Amino acid sequence: MSSINSQLPSAEPVTVMGAGLVGSLLSLYLARRGHRVQIFERRADPRRAGVAEGRSINLALSDRGWRALEGVGVADDIRRVGIPMTGRIMHDAQGSLTYQPYGQAGQAIYSVNRGHLNRCLLDLAEAQAGVQVSFNQQCLALDLRQQTMHLLDTATQQEQTVPYTRLLGTDGAFSAVRSTMQRTDRYDYSQDFLDYGYKELTIEAGPDGTWALEKNALHIWPRGQYLMIALPNLDGSFNATLFFPYEGPESFAALRSPDDVMAFFGRVFPDAVPLMPRLSEEFFAHPTGSLVTIRCYPWKFDDEVLLLGDASHAIVPFYGQGMNAGFEDCTVLNQLLDKHGDAAWPAVFAEFQASRKPNTDAMADLAIYNFVEMRDRVADPRFLLQKKIEARIASQFPGRWMPLYSQVTFSDTPYAQAWAAGQRQDIIMASLMPHIQTEADFERPDVQTLLQQQLPTPETLSAER
Ligand SMILES: Cc1cc2nc3c(=O)[nH]c(=O)nc-3n(C[C@H](O)[C@H](O)[C@H](O)COP(=O)(O)OP(=O)(O)OC[C@H]3O[C@@H](n4cnc5c(N)ncnc54)[C@H](O)[C@@H]3O)c2cc1C
Repeated sequence: MSSINSQLPSAEPVTVMGAGLVGSLLSLYLARRGHRVQIFERRADPRRAGVAEGRSINLALSDRGWRALEGVGVADDIRRVGIPMTGRIMHDAQGSLTYQPYGQAGQAIYSVNRGHLNRCLLDLAEAQAGVQVSFNQQCLALDLRQQTMHLLDTATQQEQTVPYTRLLGTDGAFSAVRSTMQRTDRYDYSQDFLDYGYKELTIEAGPDGTWALEKNALHIWPRGQYLMIALPNLDGSFNATLFFPYEGPESFAALRSPDDVMAFFGRVFPDAVPLMPRLSEEFFAHPTGSLVTIRCYPWKFDDEVLLLGDASHAIVPFYGQGMNAGFEDCTVLNQLLDKHGDAAWPAVFAEFQASRKPNTDAMADLAIYNFVEMRDRVADPRFLLQKKIEARIASQFPGRWMPLYSQVTFSDTPYAQAWAAGQRQDIIMASLMPHIQTEADFERPDVQTLLQQQLPTPETLSAER
């Protein structure tokens, strides 16, 4: 953790809107730097019994997220309750399995419980760092000129207007802070919904609390136009998510009755159905979530308001990077406070949005790219062979080749740089693969020559960094 800056204006409070994953981690960072932080959160306190968990029970946490958690010293606590997933296991329609490692030996992404992570960060922010959290406070709008927030107490229905000096908007994809900013002049905003929704379902634990599928893997049932995935939970169950078209012959609209659901799942996910005893009940009881990419700019209003996390860059979940990117926002903001000083908000806000925007735009594109890969390409033996060849290239030319997935997941290479390198590597693979029918072909002199003719030199790579 960086040292607290001596220019810190202790009297100036920082307001954070939204105590989700990013807001609670961000508050912890700021409070540990010595800022006086107050969070307003629409929901009730998630640490109180009986409060719903919100969307997606577990999330894949990878290196960017870990780095941000390490920055406030909580990574080890979270790692103890995370489940490492070293690769994907693909389930075909006959129930046959194929394993593909995510990275090198020892590398894994972690399945973590969203509620646990959020509660843990809130506890630390409140109890250890002195952050003040007000729950049941929904931001309705801001007055950007007067620097006030209009809040609704969702328990009492009382409304109040509260002033702010510096406001950090971490109120998620449908941010009220952003929606006020959208009404200012020349504000860029777009939201793109996929024609797909998602439904969360449960793969039950075995009777003795064991995992019915391999525990240390992310399971995928790729089916061309749609897919199901499953991430392990500590209690032996898996949280499965079906990503499925809203309309069409195979779609949410087409599955109208429990019989429709059982017949469809029995046909396309036959090995999963026996593990999902509450399938048809959950299918109709659980909501269908939508999948949206949100881009906007600027992320700041004057020197007083800044958006972070999903409020500024919501992405579709297919790379497992939304939270990781939001956590990286916290790392970057913290670095900029180190660089410019804790009182230098104008410089920090300006550099934050200028440096982060191209990277989160690239991540949004990557997330869509991975949607096609997960639902379709991972079922193709040629694609799996290509991944093996890429792993061979990476070990033969360390420093000159890192698979795109590894750059995104296991490095802190800026997303835009990773995406550019990935596209360049895709072009090289497209020229190599017609010459490769088996993994052994990689050794052939003609393949090696073709590869070396196209590999970027170390000089080119360092010039790009
Ligand atoms: C199905 C699914 C799977 C996902 N899987 C992954 C994954 O594996 N890995 C990964 O990295 N990311 C994943 N994500 C993305 C991840 O959930 C988000 O990127 C992350 O939650 C963003 O955190 P946030 O704090 O910015 O927003 P949120 O988590 O949405 O938190 C926003 C907070 O603000 C509060 N709030 C909202 N409006 C107001 C208001 N008007 N006033 C006051 N408070 C308000 C909310 O109650 C909430 O507490 C997934 C997303 C989905 C939908």
